[in-house]
Amino acid sequence: MRFKKDSHKDTHKGGCTCGHVRYEMTSKPLIVHCCHCRWCQRQTGASFALNALIETERVELLSGDVDEVMTDSPSGVGQIIARCPNCRVAVWSNYLSMGKEVRFIRVGTLDDPDRLPPDVHIYTTTKQPWVVLPKKHQVAKEFYVVDKTWSKDALKRRDIMFAGRKG
Ligand SMILES: [Zn+2]
Ligand SMILES: [Zn+2]
Repeated sequence: MRFKKDSHKDTHKGGCTCGHVRYEMTSKPLIVHCCHCRWCQRQTGASFALNALIETERVELLSGDVDEVMTDSPSGVGQIIARCPNCRVAVWSNYLSMGKEVRFIRVGTLDDPDRLPPDVHIYTTTKQPWVVLPKKHQVAKEFYVVDKTWSKDALKRRDIMFAGRKG
């Protein structure tokens, strides 16, 4: 039972702005990306995107439903952005280059987004100049080496997550 209690404190609830979509991350994320690429800047209309990566099976839709909108991504294969059908706020996405096993939760849609600061900043070559990164944060010019950046626990979870894949 102790396991259950421990895992509970790492859960995160969130939703869209009109309240139609409510969801829960049932554990802490694998890693939190702060992406400074131009694509994220355009798609959010802001200076960066903050995404918590987590196994798709660890995201529970508590109420409502989502519209899945195919959107271009830098890899060329696209991402599917899940939006509330009413208010159109994006709550998460799946990058097709990474597979449907990983969901990118938009941290700003969590009830308490302060609990998930970034673990790593990516594509910082296009970081907007006024954004000053904390000295302690991990920084990558583009992307990073997963084995050197994810926690041991997250790497174990990655192996389980992709174990079902062929090849
Ligand atoms: Zn909504
Ligand atoms: Zn990006």
